[in-house]
Amino acid sequence: MSATIGVGLIGTGYMGKCHALAWTSVGAVFGPKRRPKLVHLAEADPQLAAERAETFGFEKSTANWRTLIADPEVDVVSITTPNALHPEMAIAALEAGKHVWCEKPMAPAEADAARMRDAARAAGTAAILGYNYIQNPMIRQIERLLHEGAIGAVTHMRIEMDEDFMADASSPFGPKSDGAHGYGALDDFAVHPLSLLSVLVGLPRRVVTHMSKPFAARPTADGGSREVETYDIANILFELESGASGVLCVNRSAWGRKGRIAVQIYGARGSIVYDQERMNEVQFYSADDDPAVQGFRTILAGPAHDPYGRFVPAPGHGLGFNDLKIIECAELLRAIDGDAGARVIDFERGLAIERAVHAMARSHESGGWVDLS
Ligand code: NAD
Repeated sequence: MSATIGVGLIGTGYMGKCHALAWTSVGAVFGPKRRPKLVHLAEADPQLAAERAETFGFEKSTANWRTLIADPEVDVVSITTPNALHPEMAIAALEAGKHVWCEKPMAPAEADAARMRDAARAAGTAAILGYNYIQNPMIRQIERLLHEGAIGAVTHMRIEMDEDFMADASSPFGPKSDGAHGYGALDDFAVHPLSLLSVLVGLPRRVVTHMSKPFAARPTADGGSREVETYDIANILFELESGASGVLCVNRSAWGRKGRIAVQIYGARGSIVYDQERMNEVQFYSADDDPAVQGFRTILAGPAHDPYGRFVPAPGHGLGFNDLKIIECAELLRAIDGDAGARVIDFERGLAIERAVHAMARSHESGGWVDLS
């Protein structure tokens, strides 16, 4: 008989549903020592909170997230609200002795992210961020190839993250164009590629950035227009601790791109290519192959790529985005159990990612290289 762990969920939009699915499925997929019990759900509107609690299977609902945090039956809090609300909610949960699973990024302001890290240190509970892409079994396979030296020393990296939800110039001015909500593509997107860098090769030691706005203004509801304050595009040159160079490009206005995180890693003896839009495959080229058959080979995800086999025994059938969240949930449960090997971006590592983003923004302002260390 496994012990239970009481779950609280704040926010029930895109990510809220994703967390609810993960909490519901993690036991069936991983059979954890602690079985999640869906205890309390918070939404901004009481009626929506009650409806979502019924849909997702939570016992209680509230429009006051502090009530959820004060609930003694809640052991772990999923925070899936807009970025600006993360610090207050995460710090309150940590001060109440709860474990926290907070969506990325930590906070718009670096000082608030640091306060969240400090609260996690003081609480001593598990505090992790929603960096689901690192959980892909194929990203783990890339990590394995790098670790085994399959492509030799990394000489160059390129990462591009592109989507098109800001591509239409006629879409109205909203929070994504409002500077009060952050820099734009840098904190919306760049944090994800940085989480991948963090597990694959480490974060950059210095960066130089140029950001741009595809549209200077967007229409407003009253028939006028308002100047866009955020940058939908950011281009970053970076240097790794090893001295290898890299390029990171992020664009929220790239027509036709829906969930692209394209990673190219070039090494002294080979190359690795991956794209999140084809998340069940990795391209691998080895200069050590027989020249007669040399070429990129496609490795399809299968049970050889842990934890793929937990979901489906047949290779090549594929995992999906929500499965990454289930894996992240299982890793969080390992962290809660004190397993130092849990594969998570905790608030300590998360703060390093936030600092990289703010360094990139400072570089855009100054026009020069900015050191991260
Ligand atoms: P969303 O707008 O779909 O959902 C946010 C929810 O929070 C809404 O249901 C809203 O009503 C609720 N909310 C707002 N204020 C609240 C309050 N005071 N109390 C309770 N609920 C409140 O947004 P989203 O796309 O789910 O984004 C949420 C977070 O997830 C953001 O931080 C975003 O950066 C992150 N995100 C992560 C990923 C990922 O891949 N990990 C993808 C998308 C979004």
